[in-house]
Amino acid sequence: MRTRSIIVFVFVVIAFISGFVGGVYISQIISFKTVRPVIRESGSPEESTLTYTPPAPPKLQWETIKQVRGLKEMTTPTIDKITNDIYLARGFALGSVQMIITEQGLVIIDSTESIDAAEKILKEFRKITDKPIRYLIYTHGHLDHVQGASVFVKDSPNLKVIATKDCVEFMKKDFVEMKEFHSRSRLNQAGLSALEFSRKLPRESPVHTVCTNDDLIWPTVTFDKKYTFTLGGKRFELYHTAGETPDHLMVWLPKERALFCGDLYYMSFPNLSTPMLEPRPVRQWYESLDHMISLKPVYLIPGHTAAITGEDKVCSVLTNYSAAIRYVYEKTIQCINEGKSVDEAVQTVKLPNNLSKLPYLQEFYGRVDWSVRGIYQGIVGWYDGKGTGLTPLSPAMSAREIVALSGGADKILARAIELQKSGEHHLVCELCDIVIAANPNDKLAHSIKASSLEYLGYTCGNLNMFGFYRSATALEKKASWIKP
Ligand SMILES: [Zn+2]
Repeated sequence: MRTRSIIVFVFVVIAFISGFVGGVYISQIISFKTVRPVIRESGSPEESTLTYTPPAPPKLQWETIKQVRGLKEMTTPTIDKITNDIYLARGFALGSVQMIITEQGLVIIDSTESIDAAEKILKEFRKITDKPIRYLIYTHGHLDHVQGASVFVKDSPNLKVIATKDCVEFMKKDFVEMKEFHSRSRLNQAGLSALEFSRKLPRESPVHTVCTNDDLIWPTVTFDKKYTFTLGGKRFELYHTAGETPDHLMVWLPKERALFCGDLYYMSFPNLSTPMLEPRPVRQWYESLDHMISLKPVYLIPGHTAAITGEDKVCSVLTNYSAAIRYVYEKTIQCINEGKSVDEAVQTVKLPNNLSKLPYLQEFYGRVDWSVRGIYQGIVGWYDGKGTGLTPLSPAMSAREIVALSGGADKILARAIELQKSGEHHLVCELCDIVIAANPNDKLAHSIKASSLEYLGYTCGNLNMFGFYRSATALEKKASWIKP
């Protein structure tokens, strides 16, 4: 109070002494009184007079999604022999594992998200060689690269685990500090929220159960920018190359010209922004790709999907991948500088034709619109400059006004049912959201929304989006009268 009085006094003195309009103006626009908005209490739930028969569940589009080459590759357990000494195990889980054989032992890169899958992979590797594992390298701290590590440590207890220093920080944040949030958002992304309310997926689904991290293995050798070692005559160069995550590294074998790039490349438009996680370092991502191109690799072995062989092919894929990321980043920055809103930016930034038609830039895993949102929101902060959002009211308050003005929740829901019949599922969800915001207990609104979300999920053709929709559908079913 004392400080506030002093500040008020100072301004009064300024206004008095100066006598300028400016001084008067300052004293007029600054108020030290806090105005508290009045929030009305939620009304009691009304019984609906509508009869609603949910539409037949959408036909399983999984077969269509499976046609996407990347997913097929991801879901078929395969050991690829890249060269006599380099093997890639993919399709056993979401993440892949690579093995490099040297005369003095093995180097393993990444470990999948699953103990079970890592055991299967090691069993396959042991059919090829019985040499001890000397090094395990984490390309980055994502769970689908580190959670299976204990299997390899059990096999070769003296192995060293190499990662960037930032990887340790990343893992601390992911697996310790933000553990509950991260596992919740990942379950949501994988379509595993409120699973008892979800429709069953085919057995060959790539969505694996997210593991617990009791067996987590922490890096024992860490570095900042570059780390090199030689084992059995093979030279390994590790570079800190941010992109998918800030802690990401790549492994380069100069003699073999083999590049292990983790998640800096996979066969899809990259996931530059994950809707429920922190922003990703997008500019560093394409800079890392440019670094990869400069090495002129002959073999490109990613952490997901199949390897690419041939200098020209690898160069052209990496060049286009880098160009696509750079384009989306720079165009989004341009939109921000031009004062466009985030929705206007999403409408503006589309990949040019020569890039969008490429098979490895299809929006099967990442999406351009999500990337624009992620880059935009990661830069501009939370306020849109329109005043209302500075101290927003509870969303329930405006929703109740709209519901009342519309003539009640049933009027809105009747229209939602009509729109659902004509396949306008997104609009259905928006209308249901207004009713739900006004009255979270409106079971009919939850039920109508659940049906539309299920349609959106089963027709979207994007793996992450399918997962998010599947989770949202299950949560809406849980809030409705539908029994599991
Ligand atoms: Zn990954």
